[in-house]
Formats: sequence, structure tokens, C-alpha cells
Amino acid sequence: MRRADFCHETPDGKIQCDLCCHFCRILPGRSGICKVRRNIAGSLFSLNFGAVVTASADPVEKKPLHHFMPGSTTWSFGAPGCNFTCANSQNWQNSQATPDGLSIPVTPPETVVADALRAGCRSISCTSTEPTIYAEYALEVLKLARDSGLGTIWVSNGYLSPLCLDTIMPWVDAINVDLKSMDDAFYRRNCGARLEPVLDNLRRISRSGMHLEVTTLLIPGQSDHPSMIERMTGFIADELGRGVPWHIIPFRPGISRKMQEIAASSRESIETAWEIGRKAGLFFIYSGEGHSDTVCPRCGRTAIQRHPRIFGTTVVSVDTEGGCPSCHASLSIKM
Ligand code: SF4
Repeated sequence: MRRADFCHETPDGKIQCDLCCHFCRILPGRSGICKVRRNIAGSLFSLNFGAVVTASADPVEKKPLHHFMPGSTTWSFGAPGCNFTCANSQNWQNSQATPDGLSIPVTPPETVVADALRAGCRSISCTSTEPTIYAEYALEVLKLARDSGLGTIWVSNGYLSPLCLDTIMPWVDAINVDLKSMDDAFYRRNCGARLEPVLDNLRRISRSGMHLEVTTLLIPGQSDHPSMIERMTGFIADELGRGVPWHIIPFRPGISRKMQEIAASSRESIETAWEIGRKAGLFFIYSGEGHSDTVCPRCGRTAIQRHPRIFGTTVVSVDTEGGCPSCHASLSIKM
């Protein structure tokens, strides 16, 4: 536990947390929506500071990031809690946990970086749960990682406050944002959040030049309607850029927090979403088997081959600038 940054007192005796777009105003003795930031005797504390619950070396493709250090390994870590309450969460044991109910020793930020280096990773990823709600700790790790020559990755639901986004931006090389739907009603019902802050942050990230990839989970009957996918891919192409990679993730009910009654995504719905993305003009759409390679959008040459089942990656034809060596088109790849 550590005293929190990103907060201020309000005239009515509460502490407002300024980390995410919930902007919780918290009374003494109470916690915010994420359950891991608590007002203790008039000061806000980060309860999950250093409470690392997941730590492992992963293929960077698993984040998913297909255009950032392709074929490399990243050190993934996360602390408990989340500012969303997604019914489809596949990580709910950690994301909906509070440090109160867990006995977790504090992992010094230096240890996270040392573990990453020892494992031969090229980057470090704040992931697993939502890094925004352990931002103070994540920032300490990212700064050390940068000093050690590691790439830095943030995997997020995109609900950061403008202040939080401004603060992390200089320390993050690549970000994957989960764009769950283009319907505000879906965000309110399924996640207990709103759509607009996510879209605003995506626009800002795109303008900033940070490496950006976007992920969407296709939940049958909830977030796979073709007209919604049309609006989503139009938004990505028109406002973020046609070169922003878009990952389509099929829904699997087995390990979801709720939604057990919903069937797994059909192959047909995934193909339909892929086709809609192509029509919108997106250059790089990934949906697993059959749509996992990176192909130059100009000359059609295969740049990167992937074997999704084993997260195998072979860089076939990419120049040192991350472009196509054949026709020199940009592939939006950071090697
Ligand atoms: S991180 Fe978000 S959900 Fe958690 S206390 Fe702060 S504003 Fe509330």
C-alpha cells in the first residue's frame, strides 16, 4: 500500500481520484469503483501498489501486439483490481479481487525489471488486469525498464483520465486498447463505464505517435452486429488511421465471469467482421487462423508469418524501418 498520486480534495470533504474517467469522489473509509484505492483518514491510498499477481514471459503477440517487436518476448505483470466490471471478463479472479482478501507481498519495481532481463525479454508489459488502476506502480516499473533498454507496453481498456494518459505517454512505447463496442449502452451495461472517454483517448493516442493497436472481442448478440462493426472499423480507419492493426478476438464462454449462456463466436461472424474491416479500408486485420500473417497492403508480399496456436512468428520480409523492402510501403511495424 502506498499513498496515491492522481487525486485531490473536494470542498465537501471527499477525495477525488483523478486516475480514470470514473473520477470517484471517495468518503473516508470507502474505496473507489475499482476497490483498490481507498480514502484512509482523509488521504487516498493505492492498496495494490506492488501487489503483483501475475508475472510471466509471453510472446508479445499474446498482448496482442503484432507490429511491435514482432517475434519477441515480453515480461507481463499485473496487480489486482479493475475499473470495469465486464460480465465477459476472463480474468475476473484477479480483476475483481481486492488486496484485502489476498495476502500479496510487495514486489519492488526493480525486481520486475530484473526478472524481465533475466528471462531475455525485449520489453515489459503492464497488463493482465487494468494498468490504469495501479498507475503509480506501473510508472515506477516503466521508468526503470526504459533505463534498462526495455520496450514498454500498456494493455488497457482505454478509460484513463486525461491526466493519467498525459503522465504515462512519455514512458510507453506501445499500447493496445480494447475497443469493446461503439454502443454507449453496451459499455454502461456490460462494463459499468462509458464509450466516449475511450474514443477520446484513442484519438489522442493516435495523434501522439505512440504505437497503437486495437482489440475487439466479438460477443455473439452483444458486440458482433455488422452495423456496429461497420461503425467501429469506420472509426478506426477514418480517425485513427488505416494502418492501425485491428485484432478480432472470438468469444469463448468457458472461462468468462458471466455470460455462460452465450455460445462461442461462430467462424461466420468472425469472417463477416474481417470483411467489414477490409471494406472500411483497414490494412491489418487479425482474427487467428487464416488471418494471422502481415501482408504488405501495396504489393501483397508476406512480411510476417504467424502460427497462432503456438504463438510462432517468423519475420519474412520487413526492412529496418518497419516497411516493405519490396515496394517501400509502410507496414507500421516497430522492429
Ligand atoms: S482508478 Fe478509477 S475507479 Fe479506481 S478510484 Fe480512481 S477513479 Fe475510481
